[in-house]
Amino acid sequence: MKLDLTEIAQHVGKQMAYEVDEPAESIEDLQVLRPIRGSLRFTNTGDLLLVRGFLHTSVELECSRCLRLFEMPLLCEVEEQVELRALAARPFEHPQVTIIPEEGDTLFLDGNILDLTELIRQMLWVSLPIKPLHAEECKGLCPTCGADLNEGECGCQKQVGHPAFAVLAKLLAQMEES
Ligand SMILES: [Zn+2]
Ligand SMILES: [Zn+2]
Repeated sequence: MKLDLTEIAQHVGKQMAYEVDEPAESIEDLQVLRPIRGSLRFTNTGDLLLVRGFLHTSVELECSRCLRLFEMPLLCEVEEQVELRALAARPFEHPQVTIIPEEGDTLFLDGNILDLTELIRQMLWVSLPIKPLHAEECKGLCPTCGADLNEGECGCQKQVGHPAFAVLAKLLAQMEES
């Protein structure tokens, strides 16, 4: 989906609202399970084009502890801004557009054309948790036999402390003996 921002880029003070309703399609490796809905508001402040709003959907993630797949609702707040100088001055070329803050990425803008699919892709990626958990109290897998500890104890002996400390303790014990 592409949105033409020429009209808004050329009129200071102009606002435009856009209701997002995109089908649930996988984005790269990310399984999108529900339609991506939300609303975006574009505002021309004279210096900046503001993009404000929210998106919500639901994606399939793998639990970082027990590796099971689970559905996770995502709510993304959109807060982007683009310098308008370049946009308004040369609407039919592809000017270098500077996004503030500087870590931002201009992949979703090509001249005055906003690539909504790309914007959504970026918003979803930054909203993903670094270590997704299917449940806050997930017990994970047994490091010895790989059993899912959420389904019960596996009978393996629990490791006490970090294995490196066990080695150190043994060395210390040996030194005391000699
Ligand atoms: Zn889990
Ligand atoms: Zn085990």
